[in-house]
Amino acid sequence: MAQQEEVFKKLIAHCKEYGFVFPSSEIYDGLSAVYDYGQNGVELKNNIKRYWWDSMVLLNENVVGIDAAIFMHPTTWKASGHVDAFNDPLIDNKDSKKRYRADVLIEELLAKYDDKIEKEVEKAAKRFGESFDATLFRQTNPRVQEHQAKRDEIHNRFVKALNDNDLDGLKQIIVDYEIVCPVSGTKNWTDVRQFNLMFSTEMGSTADGALKIYLRPETAQGIFVNYLNVQKTGRMKIPFGIAQIGKAFRNEIVARQFIFRMREFEQMEMQFFVRPGSELEWFKQWKATRLKWHKALGLGDHKYRFHDHDKLAHYANAATDIEFEMPFGFKEVEGIHSRTDFDLSSHEKFSGKSIKYFDPELNESYTPFVIETSIGVDRMFLSIIAAAYTEETLEGGETRVVLKLPPALAPIKLAILPLIKKDGLPEKAREIIESLKFDFKCQYDEKDSIGKRYRRQDAIGTPYCVTVDHETLENNTVTLRDRDTMLQERISIDKLSTIVGEKVSMKPLFKKITEG
Ligand code: ATP
Repeated sequence: MAQQEEVFKKLIAHCKEYGFVFPSSEIYDGLSAVYDYGQNGVELKNNIKRYWWDSMVLLNENVVGIDAAIFMHPTTWKASGHVDAFNDPLIDNKDSKKRYRADVLIEELLAKYDDKIEKEVEKAAKRFGESFDATLFRQTNPRVQEHQAKRDEIHNRFVKALNDNDLDGLKQIIVDYEIVCPVSGTKNWTDVRQFNLMFSTEMGSTADGALKIYLRPETAQGIFVNYLNVQKTGRMKIPFGIAQIGKAFRNEIVARQFIFRMREFEQMEMQFFVRPGSELEWFKQWKATRLKWHKALGLGDHKYRFHDHDKLAHYANAATDIEFEMPFGFKEVEGIHSRTDFDLSSHEKFSGKSIKYFDPELNESYTPFVIETSIGVDRMFLSIIAAAYTEETLEGGETRVVLKLPPALAPIKLAILPLIKKDGLPEKAREIIESLKFDFKCQYDEKDSIGKRYRRQDAIGTPYCVTVDHETLENNTVTLRDRDTMLQERISIDKLSTIVGEKVSMKPLFKKITEG
């Protein structure tokens, strides 16, 4: 674990040093859990957004996009349930004065039991070698059984307390299992309280009675209130989806782990409207499609898993998370929820306006059911950059840090480097950039030795570097260096556009998503 923390720290430092992510308003010592994206970060982020957007609206004829405002009529949040129920259960340690989410403390305890079980299994696997039967061992080993029984007991109490909204019950689990504050090491806890996560502000001047409005805590409601506008003006037939990318705000209390949990963040959400009764089939389908979208990036299939929800939100009849193996363990990156007709029905009730759909095939009107896919851009960014960050020792003992980003997402696709700063080589390099700049993002660099320049490009994940040398002036060829293999080949300048273009295209990723 300590080693993982070390890697995570290095990753955060790397993000800052190479212009990916800066603490917000850093010259004033930053603002907690708010971050800015730098010159390379914004390119990576934009590419992630494009990958998501195109996978929704290009690949699916029946998915269209919108861009709704952040500010919404305050009744929206009454109808959605956020005013009354968008809460986190909080608990304070009286000695360290640190505040925690009670549910997270208990989840961490459950994870400890999982670890204990896995360690027993690993130990036994080593001891018994090839003849080891892990399933049988889990079923019969007394120590594993003991841990499992304890875990099940805690888990059952936890699920019950969450479902009953029983704050005392949550606290009692923390007391009974002697969970200590990681900072003070004591068990001196306050009671558990609910805390609403929405930020509010005022619209208009106070003289004419300013309106209290909220900064949206999710983008989804902008889609729901526009559902009928889009359906009618786009002549959409059910099933169809509406996609949106935009900022969301949550007054997160436990805001740690860099850009994993921020107070201002960005979501990519798609609400898919279906016939009532068909929602679980669509839920299954979107679950599979979304996992393919993640896996197509090639970061490693073993880094993903589904986590089905123990506690379903009051409006949901199925929910799962796609979790990614971050440097601090498996964590949610995306949520897929079957939201029933809760949101549309509720907006219908609160607004007094009918938002039913007339189904010409069934010849009847109904309120559609909704499958939602909701992913955080920033969490996706973190998962990609964490998986891409690699420290390599090269032949001769030299080391390099390389970001093995999927080429389609890399901020810079091609670096053009004149071997020296004279003899017409810079001019030739500029000429190449001029011919390629309409195809993809290129960067010119003439400072320092060629080795140093390669390292700089490795550190920001540029898939290809081109070196312009004296031979280039003679025969219009350059050396093309591959980031991952570091192999160089001499190729004609004419071929650059095709070779690099193919490597950085999103097309192969999209094909993987649509394949069987
Ligand atoms: P968590 O349990 O981690 O608080 P959540 O279940 O509340 O997350 P959702 O409401 O399902 O999250 O939001 C959908 C997605 O939005 C999440 O999967 C995540 O990627 C992203 N997200 C939510 N909250 C934050 C945040 N504070 N900072 C960054 N991304 C977030």
